[in-house]
Amino acid sequence: MSDDANQMRAAHFAHFCELMPELVARLSWSREGIEAHRTRALRELLGHAKRHAPWHAARLAHLDPERATIEDLASIPPMTKSDLMHNWDAIVTVPGASLKVAEEAVRNMRDQFYIWGNHTLFASGGTGGRPGLFVNDWTSLAMNWGGMSRTIRPYLASLPLPGGGIPHNYRTVAVGAEMSGHGSFVVGRVFSNPANPTRMLSGWRSVAELIPKLNAAQPQLLSCYPNLIPALAAAARSGELKIDPLAIVCGGEHFPDHSQRLARETWPEAAIMTCWGTSEGGGTHPCVSGDGFHVSEDQVIIEPVDETGAPTMPGQRSAGIYFTNLYNRAQPIIRYHIDDVFEMDDEPCACGSLHRKIRQVHGRAFEKFHYGTIIVHPVTLQLAVLEQPSILEYQIRQTKRGAHLAYRGEGDIDGARLAAKMRQALKSYGVVEPEVTVECVAQLGRTSVGKLKRFIPLPPTS
Ligand SMILES: [Zn+2]
Repeated sequence: MSDDANQMRAAHFAHFCELMPELVARLSWSREGIEAHRTRALRELLGHAKRHAPWHAARLAHLDPERATIEDLASIPPMTKSDLMHNWDAIVTVPGASLKVAEEAVRNMRDQFYIWGNHTLFASGGTGGRPGLFVNDWTSLAMNWGGMSRTIRPYLASLPLPGGGIPHNYRTVAVGAEMSGHGSFVVGRVFSNPANPTRMLSGWRSVAELIPKLNAAQPQLLSCYPNLIPALAAAARSGELKIDPLAIVCGGEHFPDHSQRLARETWPEAAIMTCWGTSEGGGTHPCVSGDGFHVSEDQVIIEPVDETGAPTMPGQRSAGIYFTNLYNRAQPIIRYHIDDVFEMDDEPCACGSLHRKIRQVHGRAFEKFHYGTIIVHPVTLQLAVLEQPSILEYQIRQTKRGAHLAYRGEGDIDGARLAAKMRQALKSYGVVEPEVTVECVAQLGRTSVGKLKRFIPLPPTS
């Protein structure tokens, strides 16, 4: 089985490499070219969803897919993660696919895997406080990662490789999720060059554990969570960390300006890049100038909206976005609500790309849990929740000696397994005899703007 999966991953990487020239060419499209493509892609998506996804058929009944325009999107009611998870089998268009089988597969996974032929799954904490399961078909997974990385690889390919290496054959280190259905793990496993495999390191562990591994791996391309940068920069300044990357790509959460400056000061030779991405379909790519990122308008439609769902203007902060994935046929995502705060730019970008520029995305900055000198990334605790999709919403609160999980759910939920897995996660960081409590609640407290804070650390004691 593992040989088969390895062969499929190698073939998938080859497919990704084949798609790349086209994805790169799209970055220099004219505005008319982008618009024409979007209209065509939207029509195909609506037609496909109407024919193959009964849940969508009902909400798209008023539209003629052959004549629909981008403006018609506004007439489609938004969908939430709750809609997606409640109506999963009537949204996913893969013959024979079911949420039950998908849940089971994620619960029992031992490595990245393929399902229903050549489909893949992402499990995500994502937006809205409820875990989600996302299906990608073969091409759409390659489009997802290709769309996000299409400015990074050509940039590296344009550099003379020290020591005369082979173009596209960089030493790549991805600091991301541990073995899980998390997108960064799946994408890291699949799109790893078999001739020079991506070294995957856990971003959920201590920096002290990472440093010797990074020194040994000597990445030319390093990807990691933005929140690692201050600690890595400090280790570089003290001489413990000795790496000389050509590019550092930070994604997964907001990359604050001061951390970006710190990265540029610490590794002046490296391109520092960032973008925003989502399990629902990627969505952006780093600007080649190294300043901010662009919406991948050939792949997705992002509508920034206020609390009432009305569009917000460039320069304004949105309350969220409606996200439409134009390319994934396996699980059509149309006007899907994501609660990240977007600030769009309306100035043309100096890089020359006519894909819309994003000034900033706020949100998704995960605060870590501190137990004395032990630092725990709460995403590790979340893995226990992600394997039980009957949980509708949840919140993990740090306690003095462990954590408290409050959740709202329906159907079968294995509370003992939840607590055991969370305890195991805390122990793996070195927390001694962690205390974990699990509570089913009728309602979870939200912030004044209706957001559910997923992780709540204890206030610092000093
Ligand atoms: Zn740009």
